[in-house]
Amino acid sequence: MDDKIYLASPHMSDEGYEMEYIREAFDTNWIAPLGRNVDEFECELANKVGTKAAAALSSGTAAIHMALKAAGVREGDLVFCSTLTFSATVNPILYLNAVPVFIDSDAETWNLCSAALERAFEKYLKLGLKPKAVLVVHIYGLSADLDRISDICRTYDVPLIEDAAESLGTTYKGKYTGTIGDYGIYSFNGNKIITTSGGGMFVTGDEEQAAKVRFWATQSRDEARHYQHSELGYNYRLSNVLAGIGRGQLKVLDQRIRKKREIFQYYTRELGGLDGVEMMPIREWNEPNCWLSCITLHGAVRPLDILLALERNNIEARPLWKPMHMQPVFESYDFIGEGVSEQLFLNGICLPSDTHMDIEDLHRIVSIINKLWE
Ligand SMILES: *Cc1c(COP(=O)(O)O)cnc(C)c1O
Repeated sequence: MDDKIYLASPHMSDEGYEMEYIREAFDTNWIAPLGRNVDEFECELANKVGTKAAAALSSGTAAIHMALKAAGVREGDLVFCSTLTFSATVNPILYLNAVPVFIDSDAETWNLCSAALERAFEKYLKLGLKPKAVLVVHIYGLSADLDRISDICRTYDVPLIEDAAESLGTTYKGKYTGTIGDYGIYSFNGNKIITTSGGGMFVTGDEEQAAKVRFWATQSRDEARHYQHSELGYNYRLSNVLAGIGRGQLKVLDQRIRKKREIFQYYTRELGGLDGVEMMPIREWNEPNCWLSCITLHGAVRPLDILLALERNNIEARPLWKPMHMQPVFESYDFIGEGVSEQLFLNGICLPSDTHMDIEDLHRIVSIINKLWE
């Protein structure tokens, strides 16, 4: 059997940057709590993406939870949310006993459809209801059409949260995704473009909100000699050891993005001309990080044919995300749209996008896929 090729696996720097920061944490016995790596990781990431403030957290999911709280979401509130995403986007809405309304994708961006968002506002305003937040996802590192979405949010005076878990390093009209809405989040889970093994970041232009998130995420400890709490707390901070991994990984983010883009360009060249194949859409205003290279299929070859052919050869690939409004756990919630996300799910596939791959690996993958067209 040939070596396994992964969809996206952790990729530490060749230079060993991560170990230097971890060693520093060990040498100074700053294993926990918090410490210099956490503070520096927050600063370095905020500088990289060009925002004021960041709070390092234990996961992207925790960061979404905190962003929703920062936006003032409480029990019974509505949150308008992209349906084509990973469940981690939606779960925190339910942690707060708030109510998601799922918004469809459009075919031009695969991300939240601004026309469907507008319809959702109209529908709920007629009922006298307004959402507490709009939660937009940048799927697979493609950016949503943020100008149109921000305009709508501004018109209705509702905060915008960007789930940029998959899109760290992606820019929209020259600005980093995650920094354009009121609040943004990143994930450093093992499969993301950079990883701390597990971790996340909340970012915002408002230092006070970041301080508030750090407070909630440290069990909401009031200023006092004894343990004093006047608000509900969470144990959501990132450890100083893992923040060290993050600092090292941040140094190779641009390198990883370059490689991910090369992978996408290679697939475009080798597969883009096949009958019925469409590459994921990259709009003119979007410089994507190409976290995963995705295609849709509209001919005789179906996604399952490719998935099975790759699986037989020890190569990992995946269908696109199954939309949240189609998930049994969320199916009682409202959905606004025409079913574009359902079509993407039925026709789409994520190709191996691991940055460890070399040209031989890529040859191996496309020759297996090409055979299905012979
Ligand atoms: C990975 C991911 C998350 C969650 O991040 P974790 O760090 O795994 O909690 C949230 N949203 C999207 C779109 C993701 O892909």
